[in-house]
Amino acid sequence: MSDNIRRILVVNAGSSSLKFTLFDMQNESVLAKGQVERIGMDGSLFTFESAKAKFKQAPTVAPDHTAALNTVCAALVDPEKGCLSSITEINAVGHRIVHGGAKYTTPVRVDETVIEGIRELIPMAPLHNPGAIQGIVGCMAVLPDVPHVTVFDTAFHQTMPPESYLYGLPKDIAGKYGIRKYGFHGTSHHFITVRASEVLGIPLDKLNIITCHLGNGSSISAVKNGKVLDTSMGMTPLAGVLMGTRCGDMDPAVVVFLAKQGYTPDQINDMMNKKGGILALGNTGSSDMRELCDAALSGTNPEAKTALDRLIHSYVMYIGGYYALLGRVDAIILTGGIGENSYEARGALLDRLGGLGVIPDDARNREFRFGKEGRISADGSTLPVYVLPTNEELMIARETYGIACK
Ligand code: AMP
Repeated sequence: MSDNIRRILVVNAGSSSLKFTLFDMQNESVLAKGQVERIGMDGSLFTFESAKAKFKQAPTVAPDHTAALNTVCAALVDPEKGCLSSITEINAVGHRIVHGGAKYTTPVRVDETVIEGIRELIPMAPLHNPGAIQGIVGCMAVLPDVPHVTVFDTAFHQTMPPESYLYGLPKDIAGKYGIRKYGFHGTSHHFITVRASEVLGIPLDKLNIITCHLGNGSSISAVKNGKVLDTSMGMTPLAGVLMGTRCGDMDPAVVVFLAKQGYTPDQINDMMNKKGGILALGNTGSSDMRELCDAALSGTNPEAKTALDRLIHSYVMYIGGYYALLGRVDAIILTGGIGENSYEARGALLDRLGGLGVIPDDARNREFRFGKEGRISADGSTLPVYVLPTNEELMIARETYGIACK
């Protein structure tokens, strides 16, 4: 542990929000966390939690991300609520960036060129990268003297070979616009891969696993020798399995068909990203897995049951395909809000994986929830299934620590 770098602030900024976690890297403990919401709007909302205090403050004045971080810093050094005696005790800042394209394969220290690089990728992540840039600029204004590091959600997937990431499109067009598979949730897949290596006692460079980050947004990855071989999300986080409000994979010609019916690109985008998935199919009026499972298992909502079946079907398709790609699989790892908690969805999934050597264990499946880590398959399974809670913030702090100490 470097004496100079100890406390790392992890920031996840959107265009109107800034979430933060302050870590003490001596023991990887959380000193404080919270968020500022409604940045730039009337009545911003500030939520803060430390060992000394937990509060919600509304309205808070936060016209921009600089003001939002100033509010956070004031609370961090407040003698009654905070955990620092001076803001100079923050040694580095790690920023979560959704899209790093093919350019950023590892975390990098921020400079003007990096900010420009993230800006160039805005067409790929129009909802995420602009807010992230506002967050970086705002945080650098408040903490100008410490290293700032960007950690990209796409980076862990950049080990994919062309046979995984290429789309069958004319090369000049694909090359001109950077159209290919990038993958997302990389920080989470990375965290659980490292954790799986520890839990299974298999060195990272010999570890073959299928990592399933199942939440409101979901992605499944094939990890071979500790590196991503393939992943279910694509150029954007819309591809892959069925999700809360996203349609996942479908015939791309549907987009052309809808455009020819007169729907605009924004309308089609809205349908696929915000009105699709569980919300579209479940007949519960919600994208929430708990409501879908309650409705599906009550026996009164056949559409909910079909939606749950469709969801599990999409998980099984990817897991089965990745099993074939990997050849040898040491374990399936589940994480994310659904993977960590929904024993109904997990039970339905494990019931479908018998052909791969998975034997479900209902008692274990019910036990390992709400942050508990453990194996949910039966002892006789030739392919074990583990629940390993993810911690993207800690992964960003570790990566930031690694870069800031160089
Ligand atoms: P995430 O995007 O990772 O926060 O995951 C959100 C999803 O996890 C939602 O579909 C939730 O319904 C689901 N989820 C969270 N907690 C539970 C729980 N206790 N039981 C079942 N599903 C849950």
